[in-house]
Amino acid sequence: MLIEKYDLDVFTPSCEPGAERFSAIARLTIDISDVLPYLNATLRGAVYLQEANALTWTKSGHKIAFQSYEIATSNVKDRDAAIKELDGLVKLVNRTWERRAEITPDFEAHQRPTPLAVYKLLPHTNCKQCGEPTCYTFALKLIAGQKNLADCPPLFTPEYADQLAILQGIIIEAPAIG
Ligand code: SF4
Repeated sequence: MLIEKYDLDVFTPSCEPGAERFSAIARLTIDISDVLPYLNATLRGAVYLQEANALTWTKSGHKIAFQSYEIATSNVKDRDAAIKELDGLVKLVNRTWERRAEITPDFEAHQRPTPLAVYKLLPHTNCKQCGEPTCYTFALKLIAGQKNLADCPPLFTPEYADQLAILQGIIIEAPAIG
């Protein structure tokens, strides 16, 4: 196990006095820099800065940052949710580290795909089978990790095979946290 213990700090950002959203930081006793290229290879929309030993990722509207000795999350609804999320992120790091022999590390700093670029590859029928009112809303949630490609059944018909192949190349399905 890479991370065996950490100190937890949960707080309301000082720039937002009275805010009802919480931030939390897990302060680590070991350096997790070596796992960052493996997270970069597996987390959808992650942005890795090798020189800074930092990787940022947005999941379900939460901004998450992995650094050498720290994992931080923000915009969480309450203290308990922040604690639970950080615990899940620590487990994600440990799982990724344990699976590193199966993952090709990625040292590139990728640009996130834009919503418009993803939207252009969707069927444009606004059929709502994904539970969203429009394909564009689905594109936004896909990039944010709140939806998966499998949530759009029309994409898996022969008509959209080419678009699906491209989307599978630019969208990495989000792993479960926790
Ligand atoms: S299921 Fe696919 S085609 Fe239908 S609205 Fe959602 S994204 Fe668009």
